[in-house]
Amino acid sequence: MIFPIVWTEYTVTVNGRVHKRVPCEGCGVEYVYVLERESTGTAISPYSVPGGAEEVRLASAAEESVQQYLANDFDPVPCPVCGHYQKHMFPKLMETGCLWGVVAPGLLLVAGGLSVVSTVFGAIGYLERPNDPALWRLIGSCAALATVGFLGAGLWAIRRAKVRNFDPNTEDQQTRIAKGQKRAVTRAQFEAGQQPSQGRTEASR
Ligand SMILES: [Zn+2]
Repeated sequence: MIFPIVWTEYTVTVNGRVHKRVPCEGCGVEYVYVLERESTGTAISPYSVPGGAEEVRLASAAEESVQQYLANDFDPVPCPVCGHYQKHMFPKLMETGCLWGVVAPGLLLVAGGLSVVSTVFGAIGYLERPNDPALWRLIGSCAALATVGFLGAGLWAIRRAKVRNFDPNTEDQQTRIAKGQKRAVTRAQFEAGQQPSQGRTEASR
């Protein structure tokens, strides 16, 4: 007897959008922009039927994570009136800066781990058989470890200085205002824009 097993892959994508209100630290105006997020869940399961429990579970998990994103996440959108980037947006503006800032610490961490291991083994080797080649190997490992430590400290100092000096608000004000106006409106404009449509629906009834 043959029992065919059909494995079905399910992908559920959930989109969400929300209006984010931001009080401007620069001019005190409150502005509104649309935050959009998407979440995709994928699962493979046997004998599943479309619209079955598996798909429902995926959809609700994806929806939950979209809700989480929308509640906690934000986009770096400057004020449409004065162009001010808010303080909480700074880290996101830095992240987009360079890939090297992510890769370099990772490489250093790997190099550090390797040199720690080689120093420990070098020390054990030297203690077991104290001779000149073993001693030089140990010294070599220690030097490598010291170099990695030194580079790490340097990188950390550079990063700290960059964080301290980083200020997206030094960019040309008109450019920032233009960027803000592309994504956001003031709360007053937002509410004025909402009212006519409400008025129309009421009038059409
Ligand atoms: Zn402002």
